[in-house]
Amino acid sequence: MRRPLNFASGPAMLPGEVLQQAREEMLDWRGSGVSVLEMPFTSPEYQTIAAEAAADLGQLLALPDRHRILFLQGGAYAHFALLAMNLMGGRRRAADYVLTGLWSARAASEGGRYGAIHIAASGEADGFTRIPPQAEWRLDPQAAYCHLVSNETANGVQFHWLPDTGLVPLVADMTSDFLSRPIDVSRFGLIYAGAQKNAGCAGLTVILIRDDLLDSALEQTPAVFNYGLQAGCDGRVNTPPTFAVYVAGLMFAWIRRQGGLEVIARNNRRKSEKLYAAIDESGFYRCPVAGADRSLTNVCFRLPTQALEAEFLAEGRRRGLVHLEGHAAAGGLRASLYNAMPAEGVDALIDFMHEFAIRHHALGKCGAARESATRA
Ligand SMILES: *Cc1c(COP(=O)(O)O)cnc(C)c1O
Repeated sequence: MRRPLNFASGPAMLPGEVLQQAREEMLDWRGSGVSVLEMPFTSPEYQTIAAEAAADLGQLLALPDRHRILFLQGGAYAHFALLAMNLMGGRRRAADYVLTGLWSARAASEGGRYGAIHIAASGEADGFTRIPPQAEWRLDPQAAYCHLVSNETANGVQFHWLPDTGLVPLVADMTSDFLSRPIDVSRFGLIYAGAQKNAGCAGLTVILIRDDLLDSALEQTPAVFNYGLQAGCDGRVNTPPTFAVYVAGLMFAWIRRQGGLEVIARNNRRKSEKLYAAIDESGFYRCPVAGADRSLTNVCFRLPTQALEAEFLAEGRRRGLVHLEGHAAAGGLRASLYNAMPAEGVDALIDFMHEFAIRHHALGKCGAARESATRA
């Protein structure tokens, strides 16, 4: 069966090989006679699955000794609040947030339920089309942490550098670019990522936390989401998202087989460079994001009119190019190029874009004039 090319932002495309392996092992995991879906999380079988996943992830990231891996439930949106509960009970009940788009704004708003939020920098004045350079940041040297979103999934801006926050722990939501490139984990106090964008399926949040931050939780932090408690008993305070951990483990092993994060990053860079070049050179499609801050995983672009965007989506779907719609809050179009998207998938999208542009170029200009005339 030929699968459509799935450009969804998440839950997103998984490699065919990973799906195939999950299918083959579905009824009988490695001769155990049981499915991963029906294994107690305390069983030696599940413990092997979790331990192998953690070992492969540690290997991929060259995890420093001081960092721990947690596989928790919740999703990144839940951890916007939970990380604040876990970190605000230590140094000070105040934190810095850098706003670069939808998700960092939501993170700040959730964090603000548990302490004072200070906006250290914001890209809002530019419509979140660029990352504010560090020269514009106003950091609080006493903050409990400084939070950023490494890749804004909805508006397609990404950090391609790391800020210096001095002694203040750097905290990053990496949900949509986790494992898309190498990460210098030692620069972060806390990294968290929902697995369903680039590293598996929904239900799992991967947390990488430095051991000195395991003891800073507010009193009211729920036990099952207390990072220190979970780290102290190997994530067994409650039932882990067992199947999602298993799928993430298959992804980690798949990434290792591709040659690791350097190779993955090179492939991802090639895919997105090609697509951005096609957009920039078209004179028809348009990407509003500043060149240096463009996301390698979520390529956002516009057509001359909304009517053309709708036509593009419908025609794309008929050709097996699916889920190219932008985030509801951002509008426009978006191609998510996660690890599982093959280079040929991007080539197929570019071919279609090229054809569509030629066919609609003149029409598009008339359409734009017509649309603005209707609005006026
Ligand atoms: C998708 C996404 C989230 C929200 O993830 P949930 O699993 O819905 O909680 C948070 N941050 C970023 C950067 C995302 O891309």
